[in-house]
Amino acid sequence: MAVLVTGGAGYIGSHMVLALQDAGDQAVVLDNLSTGFRSAVGAAATFIEGDFGDQALVERIIATHGITAIAHFAAKIVVPESVADPLGYYLNNTAKARNLIAAAVATGVRHFIFSSTAAVYGDASGGAVGEDAPLAPMSPYGRSKLMVEWMLADTAAAHDLRYVVLRYFNVAGADPAGRAGQSTRDATHLIKVAVQAALGRRPGMSIFGMDYDTPDGTCLRDYIQVSDLAQAHRDALAYLRAGHDSHTFNCGYGQGYSVRQVVDVVKAASGVDFPVTMVPRRAGDPPAIVADNSRIKAVLGWRPRYDDLSAIVTQALDWERRLHNQRP
Ligand code: UDP
Repeated sequence: MAVLVTGGAGYIGSHMVLALQDAGDQAVVLDNLSTGFRSAVGAAATFIEGDFGDQALVERIIATHGITAIAHFAAKIVVPESVADPLGYYLNNTAKARNLIAAAVATGVRHFIFSSTAAVYGDASGGAVGEDAPLAPMSPYGRSKLMVEWMLADTAAAHDLRYVVLRYFNVAGADPAGRAGQSTRDATHLIKVAVQAALGRRPGMSIFGMDYDTPDGTCLRDYIQVSDLAQAHRDALAYLRAGHDSHTFNCGYGQGYSVRQVVDVVKAASGVDFPVTMVPRRAGDPPAIVADNSRIKAVLGWRPRYDDLSAIVTQALDWERRLHNQRP
């Protein structure tokens, strides 16, 4: 069966394409290559360069390739950028997603998997956060994603569409076989930045805020390995295909690490004591956010395989070295 993967040339989407192919599904990638790479999509997948918000294009792709499900990854994902450019985020993440959902409804595609985010919860300092916790995003990014969750719920109530919302915590690492990884230029995410500092790709790095009400004063996050996250999408697809109802799941390991701990793990794994500067807080950052993942384990039967921060960092280091050889 053919699955349309928007953003399939990006970091998480390219791992989804591999997971689909490993399971014998056909992947059709739609990506505008704004941040993704054509080379991230292997020859076994169909690649179309275009905009997922172009409803007519999406409807043609669905008809031509016999698409039965959509996994929607394409998005802008940088919290501080969303604070500076909210309308860009609402256009790309929210308005265009409306067109994509409309294309699904118009063509009778009944299964939709949406990449949402733990940023919909806002500050979750009280401990592991469950899916029914209050939704109070602290950034335009979080709000741009939450609005799509609401659109999906309303659309599923009115039309023959069922969906799974996956709320990602902090995604990191790379395909353990080395087939894919994070190639994003000008990456801002912590593990990627720290790994680049360790390998001399940047002179050092900054820690944004040491005065949070957390054990060491830096923010706590729940880092999930990217192939485990792709597997969650495979499990979600199997769940929808089995006829189950729409549902929302956290994707995280349930373990928080501070920014300082992550930096220490990268230093230990690389053996490089790169320069780290303490700077003020970054706009839009909640102090702590850790997943309660009991629902995805119970309902989807999701079983993480790579829940080990030091192994995740090693994968990221290996991928960054490979990238360096390709793009010195
Ligand atoms: N962070 C940092 N230095 C960096 C990048 C990130 O201190 O160069 C911190 C950031 O402030 C946040 C955590 O690392 O507390 C995770 O940020 P990231 O951008 O990786 O993901 P987010 O949680 O914003 O989605």
